[in-house]
Amino acid sequence: MRLTLRYGARTAEYDVHESPRLTAKLRIHVEPGGALTVEAPAGTPEVKIRAGVQKRARWIMDHIDRFEGYRRHALARDYSNGETHFYLGRRYKLKIIIDPSVKRSMRLVAGRLEVTSPKGDTTDIRLALQRWYRERALAYFTSRMSRMAADLPWVDAAPPIKLLTMKRYWGSCSPRGAVTLNPSLIKAPAHCVEYVLLHELCHLAEHNHSPQFYALLGRYMPEWREAKAELDGLAEMLLVA
Ligand SMILES: [Zn+2]
Repeated sequence: MRLTLRYGARTAEYDVHESPRLTAKLRIHVEPGGALTVEAPAGTPEVKIRAGVQKRARWIMDHIDRFEGYRRHALARDYSNGETHFYLGRRYKLKIIIDPSVKRSMRLVAGRLEVTSPKGDTTDIRLALQRWYRERALAYFTSRMSRMAADLPWVDAAPPIKLLTMKRYWGSCSPRGAVTLNPSLIKAPAHCVEYVLLHELCHLAEHNHSPQFYALLGRYMPEWREAKAELDGLAEMLLVA
């Protein structure tokens, strides 16, 4: 069954699937591609489904917008004034200030990513941004990890962190306990960062993906699957350099 949600001037089509697993509630999914699907208990009347989806309309539209933002972000960047870039899951506009008398610099100020550049060309802006991301990533990951490590009985001290730009991975942990993290992870929402850090910290106790490893992960972050699914949905977009 295909229905249409109306919210203000906007519409979104959705497919309804009957699910024998569900008892009372509807389950609403917004896919990273923007598609909306609804699972309903078998035999739910259409009017009830429409009402249930309508009640979540705002949440649904917010999610569709968010994924649309990520998609646009993945398109070719030109590092121009006003272009948006991600930091900890939020979008910030670039503000470019050209000043031949200063060195290249970058800061997050008043909700904008402000780049001061002597030339203002694409390469200069891209390098400033890359460098800023790496600095922020190292500072943020280090402080988050040492705070998390304090709560984990198998970690004596937070392991050293190395940054490495990778095409397919967010992080890894060597058998000797050195953690490597992708600086692009700093573009993801904080709870997704937390999931990756905890994942690597759990590898200090379990050097594999065994049931014991997942049990440990689940004990310290019961909602890790949601964070992982969100991050998987963003990977293609955020891993674009
Ligand atoms: Zn792993």
